Amino acid sequence: MRYIAAPWRADYVRRGPTPERCVFCEAVRSTDDRAAAVVWRGRHNIILLNRFPYTPGHLLISPKRHRADFAAAGPAERNELAELFQMSLRVLGRAYRPQGFNAGMNLGASAGAGVTGHYHLHIVPRWTGDANFMPLVGGTRVFIEDLDMTYQKLRPLFDQERRRRERAGQAKRRSSAPSR
Ligand SMILES: [Zn+2]
Repeated sequence: MRYIAAPWRADYVRRGPTPERCVFCEAVRSTDDRAAAVVWRGRHNIILLNRFPYTPGHLLISPKRHRADFAAAGPAERNELAELFQMSLRVLGRAYRPQGFNAGMNLGASAGAGVTGHYHLHIVPRWTGDANFMPLVGGTRVFIEDLDMTYQKLRPLFDQERRRRERAGQAKRRSSAPSR
């Protein structure tokens, strides 16, 4: 890992991205899921592919509202995030059979957040020795899968999850309907 002094970043960080210039807000506003790499739109959060994946299948879950502070997230936003986190683990498990996952948030520029104004949860599938088959070449990671391929693999699995949820919701409504 190389570290370079980047004093120009200080200005960027101080200003912080506004909703107009935020990649997550852009994805929320987009009507083209594929172009925006969005695989799931929930009530409060979206799931999208990281355009600079650490490993194939690297997902991001972020709230629809432009907010930096996860500690201030409301219960609805927070609970749905946990639900979508579980769903993402299921989907990635089926699609890639990873041997493990890294998941977490970089909150604040000092913690390494690329976008500081809009919190997001990273979910990264891991395989034993994966750091070895992803060499850094001229600072660019080399992958065996491009983003479009990842999208084509994951979107149908998320759609399956949606249908399963809809069926479960219908069954629940039927069973809770008052009997006469
Ligand atoms: Zn935003």
